[in-house]
Amino acid sequence: MTEYPKLHLLIAGEWLGPEGRASEPVLNPATGAPIATLPHASKADLDRALEAAAAALPVWANTPAYDRARVLRRTADVMRERADAIAAILTMEEGKPQPEAKVEVLAAADVFEFMAEEGKRAYGRIIPARAAGTRHIVLKQPVGVTAAFAPWNFPAITPARKMAASLAAGCPCIIKPSEETPATALEMARILLECGAPAGVIQVVFGVPGEVSTHLMASEVIRKVSFTGSTAVGKQLMKLAADRAQRTTMELGGHAPVLVFDDVDAEKAAVAAVGGKLRNAGQVCISPTRFIVHERVHAKFVESFTKAVEATKIGNGLEAGVQMGPLANPRRVDAMTALIGDAVAKGAKLHTGGERMGNEGFFFHPTVLSDVPMDARMMTEEPFGPVALINRFGSEDEAIREANRLPYGLASYAFTSDGARAVRLQDQVESGLMGLNTFAISVAETPFGGVKESGHGSEGGTEGLEAYLTTKFIAHAPAPV
Ligand code: NAD
Repeated sequence: MTEYPKLHLLIAGEWLGPEGRASEPVLNPATGAPIATLPHASKADLDRALEAAAAALPVWANTPAYDRARVLRRTADVMRERADAIAAILTMEEGKPQPEAKVEVLAAADVFEFMAEEGKRAYGRIIPARAAGTRHIVLKQPVGVTAAFAPWNFPAITPARKMAASLAAGCPCIIKPSEETPATALEMARILLECGAPAGVIQVVFGVPGEVSTHLMASEVIRKVSFTGSTAVGKQLMKLAADRAQRTTMELGGHAPVLVFDDVDAEKAAVAAVGGKLRNAGQVCISPTRFIVHERVHAKFVESFTKAVEATKIGNGLEAGVQMGPLANPRRVDAMTALIGDAVAKGAKLHTGGERMGNEGFFFHPTVLSDVPMDARMMTEEPFGPVALINRFGSEDEAIREANRLPYGLASYAFTSDGARAVRLQDQVESGLMGLNTFAISVAETPFGGVKESGHGSEGGTEGLEAYLTTKFIAHAPAPV
C-alpha cells in the first residue's frame, strides 16, 4: 500500500525539510486527520530559488528543444508507470476517488508528452522582405523564468500544465502548488529531476500564498506568471504583475451554464450531467452549475438528475466503488452549508442533499435545487461544490441571456440536436470553452481558458506553449561592405 510521502521544498536541486522552518500540517479530507508536515520557504529560500532559476535560464533556454523534449517525454512515461502510487497520494491529500485521481495523473502525463512534442514546434516564420537580399525573420524565444501558482482541486493536472509548458518553451519554473495538496506536484518534480531536468529548472516552494507570490513577483528574475484559482486572487496577482510588466496567464473562476433544449432526451442528458457535476465533488472550475432547462422537459430532467445523484456511492476515495469523495477542505463544507441555506431560505426547491454527511472528514451530500431565485447568492457566486441549480427557460434568447448574465466566461455547455441552433450558440454564448452534447472539454492538445472575469490566456494546445514564448522580429539586411 502506498504511504503518503514526507514533504520537502525543492530548491536548486536540494530537498529541504521542515527543520528550522515554519511549517503546516496537511490533512486527509476523508478523515480530517493530519498526514504530514509541510515546510514553508523562508525569504532566503525564495531568494535562493530565484538565483538558481536565473542561473539555469541560459543553460535550459540554449538546450536544444529536441533534448528538452526527451526529458519531458521520459517524465510522461515514468508518470504512467507510477500512476497508481501517485493517484493514491493524490486521493489522500485531495479526496477524489482513486480511479478518478488516476485518470487525472494519466492526463497530466499526456500534458508532458504533448508539450515535449510541441516544444519542437516553436516555429517562427519568414516574412517576404521589401528589399532585395534582406530577410524578415520572426523568432520565438523563451520568455524567461516563470512563477506558477496552482490550487488544490487538481493537484496533478494544473501543476503539470504549468511545468510542462514552461519547460518545453525553455523557461525554468518556480512553482507553488497548493499547501493543501503538495505531494502530487512534488512527485512530478522528482520525476522531472530523475529524467534529466537540471537543478534550478524545476523548483517547488510552499508558504503563506500571498507572501510567496508577492516575494517572487517582486523579483526582476520572474518574467511570466501563471495562476489558477479564484478570480479575487487572480485580480490581486494581475496588479502585482503590473509593477514589473510580467506576462500573465490567469485561469480563474467559472459558473458554467448548461442549456438543455427540448429536442434531446432529457433523461439521458441528466445522467450525463450528473457525471459532469459530481466529478471531483463539483470542485472544478468548469463544473456544470447553472442548469437552464427548457420548461417542457424541466420536470423530467430534475427527476432523472435527482435519481442519478441519489444512486451515487460516496465515501473515502481509497475504497473500491466510491464515486464521490469528501470535499477537499472544511472551507468548502461551510460554503456549501451557507450557500444552500441561503437559496432555500429565498425559495429554492430542495430535491436531495443539502447537508453535511457524518461527522468525520469533509463529506457533503450532493444537492439538487430547482427554481432557484435570482437573488440567491449561489446564482452569482461560484459554488465550487456538489450542488446543481436547475432552472427553466421558455425561449432560446432567454436561455442565452441567462448563460451570459454573469461576469464569468470559462465553460458553457448545451444539449441540442438542432444544428442551426448549435451554430447560434457557438456564436453567442460568452465562454472560452464550450461543450455541445458533451462535458468532455479538456485534453492535453486542446486550449483551455476563459474570457471575461474567468481570466485570459490558454493552457493546453499550441496556445499553451505560446504563452511562454516571446516574439522577436529581426530584419537582416546585406552588410555594408
Ligand atoms: P482562495 O481564493 O484563497 O485560494 C484559491 C487558490 O489560490 C488556493 O490554491 C490558494 O493557495 C491560492 N492563493 C490564494 N492567495 C494567493 C496569493 N496571494 N498568491 C498566490 N496564490 C494564492 O480560497 P480557496 O478557499 O482555496 O478557494 C476558494 C475559491 O477559489 C473557490 O470557491 C473557487 O471559486 C476558487 N478556486 C478556483 C479554482 C480553479 O480551478 N479555477 C481552484 C481552486 C479554487
